Amino acid sequence: MDDKRRDFLKVSAVASAASLLPATSAAQARPQNTEGVQSYRRLGRTELKISDISFGSSRLREGEDHLVHHALDRGINYFDTAESYTRGASETVIGRVLKGRRDQVYLVSKTLTRSSTSAATMMEDLEGSLRRLQTDYVDIYMNHAVNSVSVVGNPEWQAFVDQAKQQGKIRYTGISGHAGRLIDCIDYAVDEDLIDVMLVGYNFGQDPAFYEGITRGFDMVATQPDLPRVISKAKRKDVGVVAMKTLMGGRLNDMRPYENAGATTYAQAAFSWVLSNPEVDALVISMTTTEDIDEYLGASGAKYVSAEARQLLDTYAHLNGANYCRHACNLCEGACPAGVPIADVLRTRMYATDYKDVDFARREYALLASNASPCLTCSGEPCANACPNGIEINKLCAPTHRMLNPGQGERLV
Ligand code: SF4
Ligand code: SF4
Repeated sequence: MDDKRRDFLKVSAVASAASLLPATSAAQARPQNTEGVQSYRRLGRTELKISDISFGSSRLREGEDHLVHHALDRGINYFDTAESYTRGASETVIGRVLKGRRDQVYLVSKTLTRSSTSAATMMEDLEGSLRRLQTDYVDIYMNHAVNSVSVVGNPEWQAFVDQAKQQGKIRYTGISGHAGRLIDCIDYAVDEDLIDVMLVGYNFGQDPAFYEGITRGFDMVATQPDLPRVISKAKRKDVGVVAMKTLMGGRLNDMRPYENAGATTYAQAAFSWVLSNPEVDALVISMTTTEDIDEYLGASGAKYVSAEARQLLDTYAHLNGANYCRHACNLCEGACPAGVPIADVLRTRMYATDYKDVDFARREYALLASNASPCLTCSGEPCANACPNGIEINKLCAPTHRMLNPGQGERLV
């Protein structure tokens, strides 16, 4: 990106933010919904009727049983986990709480695979999940965080799925993903009729028709503009569609001053945008406090984006547009001669700096096939202008490595 455009983005961001008047100078009390889930939606061809706002557990830790109890009490019936979440603790907690209530809920788990992973390994992973979940079966089992057609098309996955279905260990199968080659993966999976459900990173920043409308004059473009197309394509085959990463970065506290007391919150606004799309069946969101759960469920049953919600989305986009890495865009891929996976590095940084969850960020960082260690000794020139969205990659990657690599200290950037 040239300097002129970068300067324009910065000036636009500052000017737009300055013109956005906070509702108050301090955070307001969050509106709490105690009525629970208001809508259960059909999850495509599975015919499961699931809560439109459902339980994401990527950050669920030992000792947090009360969160699962609270979600159940509020009517949530769809629990999304994975073997890699919190090193298995997520599945363990869910399994413990749901013991004896298994017939009241739908369970989803996932495993990370590669194009060379064997069916036998996948079966071992599934059986590990079933043990931790204390159940004989999961309703949906997903190939986790896919970002390559060779992973989706691995014939071992299909052999595994056929066997696991035959043995009654899984009912339906799917993929989850949010990275740069997700579109290719979905196109392939739908064309080949490989999936019943997909879990995709999807938010208002990924729909050109909406995002470029609210950011007109701000010169920001939607990330993964093809996502609406592949979601429509999946729906034509009656694939269930569940959205995640719906908050476009999750800087909820930044938005508190712009929320009116007792009215819509930014999270509810973002959810209403997702749920008003008839091609999305439901969303999952990490629920880390009981207050979160009650705030989030305030958007359950949303059918449209209110004027107030639209204003909050507009404000968020203007406050965060120029400094938010939409890691799914991956337009900086190949910019680093040392092969640093820039988008993945910045995604893990987001977990630490925006979600304020350094432990989770470190675990995710440790899972990367390669990391940002080369940045520690690099001039930063090759990637300096590689981001069309104005992210200063060369200034973020080395501090991220220092923050998230074991033994490098606790400093937040
Ligand atoms: S740094 Fe820029 S180009 Fe790279 S993934 Fe983030 S937003 Fe996209
Ligand atoms: S700072 Fe250097 S090593 Fe790090 S991503 Fe940029 S080009 Fe690659």
